Amino acid sequence: TLQDRLSATFKSLRGKGRLTEADIDATCREIRIALLEADVNLAVVKEFVAAVKQRALGSELSGALNPTQQVVKIVDEELVAILGGQTRTIRWAKKPPTVIMLAGLQGAGKTTLAGKLGRWLREQGHSPLLVAADLQRPNAVTQLQVVGEQAGVHVYAPEPGNTSAADGEGERPTGDPVLVARRAMYHAQQKLYDVVVVDTAGRLGVDAELMQQAAAIKAEVRPDETLFVVDAMIGQDAVNTARAFAEGVGFDGVVLTKLDGDARGGAALSIAKVTGRPIMFASNGEKLSDFDVFHPDRMASRILGMGDMLTLIEQAEKTFDAEQSAKAAAKLTSKGGTQFGLADFLQQMQAVRRMGPLSKIFGMLPGMGEMKDQIANIDEKEIDRIEAIIQSMTPAERDDPRILNGSRRARIARGAGVQVSDVNNLVTRFMEARKMMSQLAGGKMPGMPGVPGL
Ligand code: GDP
Ligand code: MG
Repeated sequence: TLQDRLSATFKSLRGKGRLTEADIDATCREIRIALLEADVNLAVVKEFVAAVKQRALGSELSGALNPTQQVVKIVDEELVAILGGQTRTIRWAKKPPTVIMLAGLQGAGKTTLAGKLGRWLREQGHSPLLVAADLQRPNAVTQLQVVGEQAGVHVYAPEPGNTSAADGEGERPTGDPVLVARRAMYHAQQKLYDVVVVDTAGRLGVDAELMQQAAAIKAEVRPDETLFVVDAMIGQDAVNTARAFAEGVGFDGVVLTKLDGDARGGAALSIAKVTGRPIMFASNGEKLSDFDVFHPDRMASRILGMGDMLTLIEQAEKTFDAEQSAKAAAKLTSKGGTQFGLADFLQQMQAVRRMGPLSKIFGMLPGMGEMKDQIANIDEKEIDRIEAIIQSMTPAERDDPRILNGSRRARIARGAGVQVSDVNNLVTRFMEARKMMSQLAGGKMPGMPGVPGL
């Protein structure tokens, strides 16, 4: 994963105080590979990475993040922005009904989506009507009626006289989908449905007749939202298909389906970037409940394949006082680290703890994969004991543990409710760790010194 590869890059970035062009190049190279692996269109990747590099070069360093994290954060922000930034939901018509038309290739998931939207709308207190304007595919009308029933919403279908049995493939409706759409609109107005969802026909590939039919239905119902429905698994092809629909029919938003598959979702980024249209909904399964509004931030971490690191970055930024972290790092890197006292240590340790259970946090740090065994052994009770010991010290003792003689150690042990040997242990481990960290000059995580002794 990108996370693993970045941790290798990360090692070479150790201890740097600012983003150099080489750092950015190294990180961007990995991100480029990750995007290509996620099936993002090459042209989109190139343009995207160039924009990220530009921004990274001009950006200021954050005290809470190391260089890799900082580049990753920029990448994430850019991804989220392209994916539409905020989640966008339906724009309602000023005068109901609001009309939503679905367009896309055959098998994209339009009919299933009609059912999902119907159910979702009904749950939100709307009274939706589904319209069967796919008169192409055998059983298309029946399929919509079935999902409509499951969703508990009404379906407007062509009248029975308008269909005829055909070549053993089941019932193939004949007739004009534009006419069906027109009647459905009239019906919706009469019966006071407030949302109309129009299901349309698709083809296996982009073709002129399909586009013309969809465009004709669109002209008839004048949708408030035309949604391009696309299978997230089609990857690279998504760009061409999206372009064809954008030109042939035109759409306002995108729905990604089959996100329950193993696609990393590169199609989402390609489509959003190429068409400039937001992704509005996501389908992730065959059940009607496998459906949600689209969350750009979740998709960004899926595309990058590094949700954990993004979570960590967010938490680090929230938790770490950048100034305080910078001060602690400066103390560690000057005068052999002797300025870094137990009070600084306690502060950093508490900041780390605020982020969640230690074993989880360490598990999320890049490069920590190699330390899995130690991570599993982190004992929260031990940390409590360390906190108690440090809190039983006077400020002078915290600043310079070297003044801790026998009687001071005995007093601290009594105050903390521990053995003198526990105090000795902590002091020894702290001194060793401090020496080690000051040698690392800035540490593995600049601005976030690790917990000494662990
Ligand atoms: P349409 O031709 O665009 O109307 O596509 P359908 O709604 O008929 O869906 C085609 C197939 O994809 C059906 O077998 C659906 O059950 C399936 N499908 C639709 N959406 C999803 C989804 O989000 N996940 C999965 N796994 N299957 C889906
Ligand atoms: Mg269909």
